[in-house]
Amino acid sequence: MRFGEIYGNDALKARLGKLVDENRLGHALLFVEQEGMGAFAFAVALSQYLNCTGAKDGDSCGECPSCRLHAHLSYPDLHFSFPISSSPKLSDQEKKRPVSSYFLRDFVSLATDNPYFDSHDLFAAIGIENKAGAITVNEAREIANILSLQPYQSQYKIMVIWEPEKMTTEAANKLLKLLEEPPAGTLFLLVTHQMENMLSTVVSRCQVIRLQPVERHEMALILEKRFDLNAEEAMNYATLAAGSVGRAFSAVGNAEGTGSVQESVRSLLDAALAKSLVEVMDVAEQLSSLGRDRQKLWCVTAEDMIRKLFVTSQGLGSIAFADSDEAEYIRQLTPRIKQTFYGKAFAAVDTALRLIDANVSAKLIFADLGNRFFLYI
Ligand SMILES: [Zn+2]
Repeated sequence: MRFGEIYGNDALKARLGKLVDENRLGHALLFVEQEGMGAFAFAVALSQYLNCTGAKDGDSCGECPSCRLHAHLSYPDLHFSFPISSSPKLSDQEKKRPVSSYFLRDFVSLATDNPYFDSHDLFAAIGIENKAGAITVNEAREIANILSLQPYQSQYKIMVIWEPEKMTTEAANKLLKLLEEPPAGTLFLLVTHQMENMLSTVVSRCQVIRLQPVERHEMALILEKRFDLNAEEAMNYATLAAGSVGRAFSAVGNAEGTGSVQESVRSLLDAALAKSLVEVMDVAEQLSSLGRDRQKLWCVTAEDMIRKLFVTSQGLGSIAFADSDEAEYIRQLTPRIKQTFYGKAFAAVDTALRLIDANVSAKLIFADLGNRFFLYI
């Protein structure tokens, strides 16, 4: 992974390159991000840049032997450690003292496929979905062992620790010793999603690097290109993702095509306007059977539609950005909708979004939302 292949955080790419070029890289960097913003990709790109034999203009070449090994996450001096738990994938012997290297193949396969993976993806990949993963003292010992050996090719031994906030206290204390007196040539790259859950003594030994959310318009462009979406669909996913590339990718991946989401928003509006509670409840029923990501996408799409209906009702249709088919639909609808609908409906959809995240029963959420559309419109 070259810096140039990572989405967003351009200032950080330049900053890391400069730290390396000016020899100001500390021996421990702590990347702080919301899940899916790309910190893991940055850790790998940094290792690749440090070890590239053809680096220029602040980025690795992507072609030298070291870069090629990095592309498969198989560079021998680049190591990974992450939270685990016992898993059916392990042998009885391994289950006694599980460490993350037992899961390395699954980890590498996940991370090369999608460097913006989140902890849910990771736990699914290593088969511990329903358990809490942890970095235990066994793992900390393994880290110490790896770092005590001489590097193979690099002048560094690079240890990427994913979610150090999931260390047990015992493991964190062991790691603290390593951070205080690291073996020569050690480079720690820590990726945290909850810095507040880390020991402050560990944090204070690290150079803290915060990732920024990818800006919404930039995200929409990324999604348009990568998934062949139209501008409007891409913008809705971008809104949903709140700056996390990983979240955006998984939302698009979980959707079966977005056309039907827009159609389903129209179905609910049409049914409510037709004063058919039976049809309204039919749509609500369909919505409650969708996956959570798709339900959230529906809500974001509905909010977008309500906004367009509202501005059109105010005679400002030209700033609603609707395509011509949609503009026609909106023009026909607005004269039939009460002026009080927009604010109340928007608030109801917002509540639904929040309740989806809070794991409230989808049947209740969408039955309630359907009723409100029916009453408010
Ligand atoms: Zn290279």
